[in-house]
Amino acid sequence: MRNHCISEVETGNHIGGRWSTPVDTLPVVNPANGDTLATVPRSGRETADEAVAAAKAAAKAWAATPVFERAAMCMAIAAEIDAAREALAHTLSCEQGKVLAEALGEVAKAADGFRLAAELVKQMGGKTLPAEDPGKLVMTLRQPRGVYGVITPWNFPVNIPVEYIAPGIATGNTLVWVPAPSTALVACALMAAIEKAGLPAGVLNLVIGEGATVGDAVVVHPDVTAIAFTGSTATGQRIAERGAGKPLLLELGGNGPLIVFEDADLDAAAAAAAGGAFFNAGQVCAATGCVLAHASVVDRLCDKLVAKAAEQVLGDPLHPATTMGPLNNAQVAAKVRAHVDEAVEQGARVLCGGRARPDLGSDLFFEPTVVRDVAPAMRLCREETFGPVVPVIAFQDEAQALEMALQNDYGLSVGVFTQDIGRGIAMAKAIPAGIVNINAGTTWWEIHLPFGGGCGKKSGIGRLGGMHTLEAMTEIKMITVTLPG
Ligand code: NAD
Repeated sequence: MRNHCISEVETGNHIGGRWSTPVDTLPVVNPANGDTLATVPRSGRETADEAVAAAKAAAKAWAATPVFERAAMCMAIAAEIDAAREALAHTLSCEQGKVLAEALGEVAKAADGFRLAAELVKQMGGKTLPAEDPGKLVMTLRQPRGVYGVITPWNFPVNIPVEYIAPGIATGNTLVWVPAPSTALVACALMAAIEKAGLPAGVLNLVIGEGATVGDAVVVHPDVTAIAFTGSTATGQRIAERGAGKPLLLELGGNGPLIVFEDADLDAAAAAAAGGAFFNAGQVCAATGCVLAHASVVDRLCDKLVAKAAEQVLGDPLHPATTMGPLNNAQVAAKVRAHVDEAVEQGARVLCGGRARPDLGSDLFFEPTVVRDVAPAMRLCREETFGPVVPVIAFQDEAQALEMALQNDYGLSVGVFTQDIGRGIAMAKAIPAGIVNINAGTTWWEIHLPFGGGCGKKSGIGRLGGMHTLEAMTEIKMITVTLPG
């Protein structure tokens, strides 16, 4: 079954080069109006096992395919994604809820991701290393890890899979991909574009179903040699336990503070804070988790944030005037409402927004919201809200700002606004996050740069981005030669 909103997308699992549809299905719902767009497989564990078998069968030949051929394949896939850009973006917007302009940008970046992997894999080398023993020649090779399990979320359902699939294919791995079921249509459309480029059967296998079933089956399968996961901290922790002993890339939740000192450019800080909170309706791991503002500027900053919120146009994601669409699903909407309502009960003040807008088409629409007088202990500040909300907290001095930043359980990305670059660098060094952007928002990142959570926090392990992902998805093999004589 399919809704007119979706162009012709083949739906189903794609295993060993073939599409198949099991009897059991799940609906994919348009979050903007509640319509069922299509149905997708609700696969069982045995289907995940079939996909692993297909990936294993293809592994030897793909690993042996020359690097330049694998790079050429990535370039061909990028061309197919570019050719299908409008249709992919339309599907993405309809099922995820992001505005069409953002969806078009996401698809363009996905093509870039394949081109970047193609470029980098041709530059990735091993080393020759000195040895104490003069009779030895020592070298290292980068080899594929084998069969990768790739499990991805719904908030960037094109880009995030590509962050693993492109470097995985380029480096000679074969993959079993489990997308989030609520955005499985665009996963099918992306798979179709990849298939059209001529990727050999079994190199990438798509299995759709509930994560706790098919995702778990992939994680524990003995023939899956490594796992790449982006999603929530809770699921990431479960995967780390279930997949213990396998190489893991875990990109998890975030709740990054944006720290605004008294000497900051307040217009720039407000634009960055609002951009980081309202882009993709706040459903971004690196979103503005909260704004920590010096007490002397907090009033002016709040005025500017409210003005930025007023510029947002909430509504149909396909309408060209819309800047923010609905939240993706009922679970995330319930969490956003609960965090805001609890904060208000505990003394925080909503300066604008704060309400769901079912009159716009579904109860997943939530107004762009600014809340002040938030306390660090409130869930709105402590946990990942994943919605279009900017909580604001005042601090008195640098020491208190640092203390608040250090209390954050997450360690993905932080923004610091100050004219004093020395102070910015000192904060950057002291805060255990993977990314600190000085005079930019928490979301600033480019796809060739390292992205990931700081140690000891709840944001994951490992780094993706550019060469970092290629290195993470390959094994270092040391080969030594005992020289004659
Ligand atoms: P989620 O953890 O609920 O689901 C992610 C994926 O895991 C889905 O495909 C799901 O089906 C699957 N899954 C669920 N249970 C599983 C299990 N037991 N075993 C294996 N797989 C399982 O996350 P979500 O709600 O889809 O995504 C939002 C979360 O992702 C947020 O916390 C966000 O911060 C995080 N995220 C992180 C990054 C990053 O790069 N750090 C980027 C985007 C999103």
